[in-house]
Amino acid sequence: MGKKQQKKSKHEQVIKVLVVEDEDSFVEALTIGLKHEGFTVTIARDGAEALEIFDQADPDLVLLDLMLPLVSGLDVCREIRTKSNVPIIMVTAKGEEIDTVVGLEIGADDYVVKPYRLRELVARMRAVLRRHPEESENEEISREVIERANVRLEPSTRRAFVLGEEIHLRRKEFELLRLLMENPGRVLTRQTLIDQVWGDDYVGDTKTLDVHIMRLRNRIETDPKEPSVITTIRGVGYRFDAN
Ligand code: CA
Repeated sequence: MGKKQQKKSKHEQVIKVLVVEDEDSFVEALTIGLKHEGFTVTIARDGAEALEIFDQADPDLVLLDLMLPLVSGLDVCREIRTKSNVPIIMVTAKGEEIDTVVGLEIGADDYVVKPYRLRELVARMRAVLRRHPEESENEEISREVIERANVRLEPSTRRAFVLGEEIHLRRKEFELLRLLMENPGRVLTRQTLIDQVWGDDYVGDTKTLDVHIMRLRNRIETDPKEPSVITTIRGVGYRFDAN
């Protein structure tokens, strides 16, 4: 029997968290706090160790400090994303905002800023787990192929093509593009897009949306600086123009 079939729903299962953190005080507090909340905790003290034990630990969620010895949090995130869609929450210190944006761009799901309260962190963790596709068994996904402008989306396989050539999109990018393409010619407000793609309990900042739009434009627009497919409606939101 395949590993996937054996895997119980995460509601019944103990959730395994890989904590990548080099500061002793945080490691101790997190280990105690997260275990108290019912999580199983594995610790990696630097980026290299995180990558080493990732496969073996098979975590349900990764809590990833940005500033790490040996391999940075960004590189760890990038590396994990080449093989896994596991939810990743970046942990940053104040003043690391630009790296936070990069972190979301390379596929982290959310971030928290140190110092944070355990309660806030756990709320974020649960929100990210709820949004994760493996979690949402009742998620209604349209399986039909969508073809508009030069773009073709295959929701059942999560593949995307521009002018017949496959492009690689991350999970949120795919969902965002699908939502826009399912509503051609209609302006979708920023709030609608955030609610639909990130969940209405999303508490991160709205720069995330712009970063994802920028990435999509780079993939699908002939001239990303003068976008003609994903149009900005100033002060409102975005629209997918099929013509
Ligand atoms: Ca650190």
